[in-house]
Amino acid sequence: MYQKQKTIWSVLLAAVLTLSLLLGGCSVDDVSPTTQSTQATQPETTAPTLPQGSELKVRFLDVGQADAALISCDGHHMLIDGGNRGDSNLIYSVLQREEISYLDMVVATHAHEDHVGGLPGAFQYASAGLTLSPVTAYDSDVFETFAAKAQEKGGGLTVPQPGDTYPLGSATVTILGVNGAEDTNNTSIVLRIDYGETAFLFTGDAEREAEQVILDSGLPLGATVLKVGHHGSDTSTTYPFLREIMPQYAVISVGTGNSYGHPCEDTLSRLRDADVEVFRTDMQGDIVCTSDGETVTVQPQRNQNADTLGPVTSTEPSETQPETQAPSQAGIQVLAWPETVGQNETATVTIQGLPNTNYSITVNYKSGPSSAEGLEDKTSDGSGQVSWSWKVGGRTSPGTFHITVSGGGETITLPFTITE
Ligand SMILES: [Zn+2]
Repeated sequence: MYQKQKTIWSVLLAAVLTLSLLLGGCSVDDVSPTTQSTQATQPETTAPTLPQGSELKVRFLDVGQADAALISCDGHHMLIDGGNRGDSNLIYSVLQREEISYLDMVVATHAHEDHVGGLPGAFQYASAGLTLSPVTAYDSDVFETFAAKAQEKGGGLTVPQPGDTYPLGSATVTILGVNGAEDTNNTSIVLRIDYGETAFLFTGDAEREAEQVILDSGLPLGATVLKVGHHGSDTSTTYPFLREIMPQYAVISVGTGNSYGHPCEDTLSRLRDADVEVFRTDMQGDIVCTSDGETVTVQPQRNQNADTLGPVTSTEPSETQPETQAPSQAGIQVLAWPETVGQNETATVTIQGLPNTNYSITVNYKSGPSSAEGLEDKTSDGSGQVSWSWKVGGRTSPGTFHITVSGGGETITLPFTITE
């Protein structure tokens, strides 16, 4: 796999060198951003210039059914997406823990809540030199809150262009695609971070239309690590796109028991065919990648040997999971819960408790406990499983609330977020 990677790079390098000769040499303006995308496509020429002790660290944060990644290189930092609104606290505490009070860049790949929702938490702790977004306006409270914070602490919103490059320490960020098609997912900013001979490709929720636009642009896509598009949805990660990337590793940022069925079996099957080693936030928590410029090491927070290519429905929370990731108490394990649910949608909580035991559930909204149909006390079956489904009303206030499940002498509290 790695050999294949090197071969691709050699071919790309040759192509790029030929192209720059044909175009009559390189631009001398080393101003960022620049549309000279060729700069970032010569990883092998940047390898010797990596300073002593330099390293690139990419942390894919487990934010459930959402995206967030923190990238650090030589004391420079960048945040790509911030999870849902309910993840603001998590983003704040990660930056606080790492003492990152200045981010060179914040990227909102696109305007959906599961990408921009938690970014205000970043601006609560840190300021940013540059904030990239595919749009400067979007009709949602969540986006407006993000845009206002970016105005206050992140230099306002900048819409990048394909080919733009930005330095991040010894790494280079190259924009490969933005606003590929009108659908919000397809507006996603797609970018690659090159560091020495290694590269990371971030795709937001770009779907096949946007992937095709990027393929048509001819910008080189080769990367060591791929952040799989749209939480592993079947609408992304097409074979032609995957073939150009040829990743060694892939990371799927996805929530346990999500209502979309992400990641889709077809996507997993394509990754399997491409011989990619897959890591998943739902099974393994935070995924931390470290690059020395030649090799990338991937360290999941837990379940190193999880069956990441298995279907999402077979995922059972690990006993070693910290309570903030997948809530569990000695006697109650959560098999599914609605981390994020929209108005008028049906939410489901499934737990594994003691067999033939009475369990009660309380769903707390802003207005108080819900009296929706389906939330009555229930007795678990012979295997200890019990499940509740109810409809979230169309006028339920958005926000992050709590669900409490009690029975068998145990109580468990699950955070969940209502979206408009
Ligand atoms: Zn998303």
